[in-house]
Amino acid sequence: MEVKKIMQALEQKHPGELEYLQAVQEVLESIEEVYNQHPEYEKAKIVERMVEPDRIFTFRVNWVDDKGEVQTNIGYRVQFNCAIGPYKGGLRFHKAVTPSMLKFLGFEQTFKNALTTLPMGGGKGGSDFDPVGKSDAEIMRFCQAYMLELVHCIGPDQDIPAGDVGVGGREIGFLNGMYQKLTREYHTGVLTGKGLEWGGSIFRPEATGYGALYFTEHLLKKAGKDIKGKKIAISGFGNVAWGASQKATELGGKVVAISGPDGVCEIPEGITNEMIDYMLEMRASNRNKVEDMATKFPGKAKFTAGKKAWSIPCDIALPCAFQNELSEDDAKELKANGCWCCCEVSNMGCQPGAIHFFQNNGILFAPGKAVNAGGVATSGLEMTQNAAHLSWSAEEVNNKLHWIMESIHEQCVKFGTQPDGTVDYVKGANIAGFMKVAKAMLDQGIV
Ligand code: GLU
Repeated sequence: MEVKKIMQALEQKHPGELEYLQAVQEVLESIEEVYNQHPEYEKAKIVERMVEPDRIFTFRVNWVDDKGEVQTNIGYRVQFNCAIGPYKGGLRFHKAVTPSMLKFLGFEQTFKNALTTLPMGGGKGGSDFDPVGKSDAEIMRFCQAYMLELVHCIGPDQDIPAGDVGVGGREIGFLNGMYQKLTREYHTGVLTGKGLEWGGSIFRPEATGYGALYFTEHLLKKAGKDIKGKKIAISGFGNVAWGASQKATELGGKVVAISGPDGVCEIPEGITNEMIDYMLEMRASNRNKVEDMATKFPGKAKFTAGKKAWSIPCDIALPCAFQNELSEDDAKELKANGCWCCCEVSNMGCQPGAIHFFQNNGILFAPGKAVNAGGVATSGLEMTQNAAHLSWSAEEVNNKLHWIMESIHEQCVKFGTQPDGTVDYVKGANIAGFMKVAKAMLDQGIV
């Protein structure tokens, strides 16, 4: 395989799909060496087949807003790869959603799901619907209209969506209600992230953030460090940032910053449980403003407009918001302010320049597909509980999540340890995920 050649061909086929091309390039660069040791992969054109989604559904979604006006959005479901199990991955509702964004997310999901040790293929979906400023009734009408089409693409053994940016428990509820209404099928396993009373798993809402901190703990331990008393800067204030703040605080870390599209809130004494609870209200309000935290807790949280979380001095940076949210300049600012570790929790949260800067400057770095896999892993645990028609205890789910994150860390170490003994987590995660999917594709022939 020649990465350059494959990328050129892909760019020609998919011009301007920047996030998608970025995600593919990152993976191909890190697997190139291993791939070239396997002529059987080359012969079966595994890479050429793996970088293209199996199929993409695109549909129009019409709904009526509170003023009685008809609105039109575009809905998607990308079924990326089913070699190791049914398509699995979240739905993103955000005004910037494009096929390129969902293809990058579906591609990443395929490797991430492979790392979880569970049999799940990769998928992603969503819409350019913008939840900011929408009422609950509008959110419900949109979700129902979106499901009128999505229903034809999904099923408990085919494709199992969940939440992502802009889609949480409330949206999954509206989607599931409409799915049941349309199909008259009342199995619980067609969406994950459900409410506890109707088939959801305990800890699913917290799982991405909890898992990220379990992974971070293992990474720190391997490097001879620990989290106690460390200052942690977190971006975002949504579901992932909420779970990460909880677990980081519980483990003895001090969350000194959270952020939003409007700016950053510095919390010099560390985030409190009351503030963590308030993050949920902030998300439910659909205002998308982190400034609300400073208004609610004056004296404890200080808001600065237009600044990112990376401007606040910290030991550990946890990007928890959106792709490409941390640039090379941000990475330099972090280092100048004393940061020595960055665990990417958002999908592709760091720009390539930032990752290279971290790696070349001795800053510990691990990629999103390893760090944030606890979310989809717990979705997998939810599917297992649904299939068995039972619910596990908090302890059981937490232990399994813990074990999965430990094993993802081990896979990264196995495939990413360098001759000097340090671990390249980007390489480790990409090679481990790739090997599993590639082997599964090879076993199942040219399909
Ligand atoms: N959206 C999450 C992710 O990026 C979770 C997906 C799921 O639970 O299916 O992994």
